[in-house]
Amino acid sequence: MYPLVRMTDFPPAMLDAVRSARHVVALTGAGVSAESGVPTFRDAQTGLWAKYDPMELATPEAFARDPALVSRWYDERRQMRLTTQPNPGHHALVRWEALQRAGGESFTLLTQNVDRLHHAAGSVNVVELHGSLMVWRCTACGEEREELGPAFQQHPPRCGTCGGTRRPGVVWFGEALPGQALEAAFDALRRCDLFLTIGTSAVVHPAASFLHDAAEHGAATIEINRDHTPASDVVGWTLRAKSGEALPAMLDAAFG
Ligand SMILES: [Zn+2]
Repeated sequence: MYPLVRMTDFPPAMLDAVRSARHVVALTGAGVSAESGVPTFRDAQTGLWAKYDPMELATPEAFARDPALVSRWYDERRQMRLTTQPNPGHHALVRWEALQRAGGESFTLLTQNVDRLHHAAGSVNVVELHGSLMVWRCTACGEEREELGPAFQQHPPRCGTCGGTRRPGVVWFGEALPGQALEAAFDALRRCDLFLTIGTSAVVHPAASFLHDAAEHGAATIEINRDHTPASDVVGWTLRAKSGEALPAMLDAAFG
């Protein structure tokens, strides 16, 4: 049976799972950011950038070959992000985290998004699986700083401490995911009793294994996605909707 849920008709068992969960883990992806108007990776290729393949820009090799070009591309994406705001889906996740904490329970947000909109909304326990576009790191001394100001004067920007070259704090193709983030993710998954996959097709490793891990540990599972994904066939319930609509409606139905 296909576990599709209509937003006007949440199954009581699903709402029970939402209400009674002690350790919630939510995985978010590009769909959540897209609802705030953040262009997806490929959609960012407009204007001057249309002739570049993002797969060719988002690699350590590309940065080594042309640091100024790659730096400008990420800086423009950073500027675009600064013109966007968290949407009702982000805010609902903040509300849910607060509810969990108030009840002495936990809420872990795993995100594939690099835009820090979850932070901007007020989420606290966020694990950035793919790093952050808003944090730039010195390739010489390792110093990291969040950058929320205007476009950089020079590309690539230089480290104020040691003068070294700074790079965006995202995970590039061919790079390993940050070990600390993965550890935090798997630790949360071991304990979780409710797992949600939101706005991501969850086909890319390791996100693809998160759902299976959670389900194997006996967690209830919910998908929120506008499209059918491989996860749709595996989860307990699927909400075929925007996260900005589904999350607030689900929380209202569960918690009033
Ligand atoms: Zn430095």
